[in-house]
Amino acid sequence: LEETYDVVVIGGGGAGLSAAIEAQENGAQVVLLEKMHALGGNTLVSGGGLNAPNTEQQERNDVEDSVDQFIEDTLEGGDHQNDEALVSIMAEEAEGVTQWLQEEIGVNFISDRLQQFGGHSVPRALIADGNKGVELIEKLEEKARDLGVTFKMATEATELIMDDQGRVTEVKAKNEAEQELTFHANRSVVVATGGFGDNLEMRQSFNEEYDDRYMTTVVPATTGDGISMAEEIEANFVDMEEIQTYPTCNPQTGVISYVANSRFDGAILVNQEGERFINEMGRRDTISQGILDQTDQQAYLIWGQEIEEVGNMTSLHEKEFQNLKDNDLIYQSDDLGDLAAKFDVEEEALLETLEEYNAFIQEGEAIDIEKTGSQRTVEEGPFYIQKVVPAVHHTMGGIKINENAQVLDVNDERIEGLYAAGEVTGGIHGANRLGGNAITDILVFGRIAGENAAKE
Ligand code: ADP
Repeated sequence: LEETYDVVVIGGGGAGLSAAIEAQENGAQVVLLEKMHALGGNTLVSGGGLNAPNTEQQERNDVEDSVDQFIEDTLEGGDHQNDEALVSIMAEEAEGVTQWLQEEIGVNFISDRLQQFGGHSVPRALIADGNKGVELIEKLEEKARDLGVTFKMATEATELIMDDQGRVTEVKAKNEAEQELTFHANRSVVVATGGFGDNLEMRQSFNEEYDDRYMTTVVPATTGDGISMAEEIEANFVDMEEIQTYPTCNPQTGVISYVANSRFDGAILVNQEGERFINEMGRRDTISQGILDQTDQQAYLIWGQEIEEVGNMTSLHEKEFQNLKDNDLIYQSDDLGDLAAKFDVEEEALLETLEEYNAFIQEGEAIDIEKTGSQRTVEEGPFYIQKVVPAVHHTMGGIKINENAQVLDVNDERIEGLYAAGEVTGGIHGANRLGGNAITDILVFGRIAGENAAKE
């Protein structure tokens, strides 16, 4: 079974869909191969937040920001291990991407809501409607279909094939019936298969720390297929050992808890002994490690009405809240002693922790453990207590690309006919990705890859 197109895009998450749209708009006939039955990948299950400086939303909220400040925060967050040229492109193109999403793709953002994720010096994340990536994926898919992109679902790419000049011209794939398929690319191939967070063996081969103690937040398709395929043709890789955990996940499934994003509105973390142990707004890796260092490698997030009424996390994520309640992972009560008892947290210590914390917020009294970001008391019920653990979330490392999203080989020369974008690539986030930077990255570089791939 053989078919020919101008551009073959592998993977239908945010990066692949934006690449397909741009390539088709630039005059190429595009086929997109997606191994699952549904598009969207990890973009679909994300909170739909993306960072951009100098947006209308920032202007309306009187937030002062700049491209340079966004670059600085991203480099600082990545321990300056980032590829600075790629970071600059992401930062410069970010605002344009938010306009593109709104004007050309029809994406709606929660009006005037700006979020400040850990590591950012100002609030600069727009949040897609519903606080979910579904809004992004549905609209991107609709646009791609309108433009005439061909979709091959449940079709898994298995191999990149080069011609005798070393140019990538074909993709081998298989469908559900295990039939071998060949897709010829007249112009080029774009790899957008996402990360490898759910491939335990690959994860451990690059970094032994991330063994089976860690569950993952990612969709099961996140098995590093693009990494394996690129390895076979001697592509170059960067930062493969840099693996990020998300600190506040569901202890039974590993999925990210959106209810626990009450942390960004001021919720605090305590351990079994009822004590704070870390700055809740620090870096993801620091908080995750901090939690693993506590009794039973877990922590409890605590907040009350003052915090709940800002973000309304339990009503905004009502289904998840119900599910957490059904599984005894969260409790709500007007009585703090009652909450402590539910999880056997030391009650006296907890009450003392809260008293000190409230005095810190209200009277500016000194506190042992620093607290940056949103500062709100935990004084008014109903109160909430939620059990959380860290889980593997994002793989920063990946295929090495240049500023045109062209894939480089082990000698840092470009591999003709091959582009990559999204989580499968490395370099943009350095040692640690900041919240809300993934969607900006994948859309910016997805578009660059698609446009260039069409022009070959
Ligand atoms: P990104 O954020 O970079 O777009 P995602 O994880 O959101 O990455 O999306 C990657 C997509 O690629 C997922 O939909 C996944 O199912 C798909 N995918 C992964 N490996 C393959 C493969 N071998 N062939 C086809 N699609 C793949």
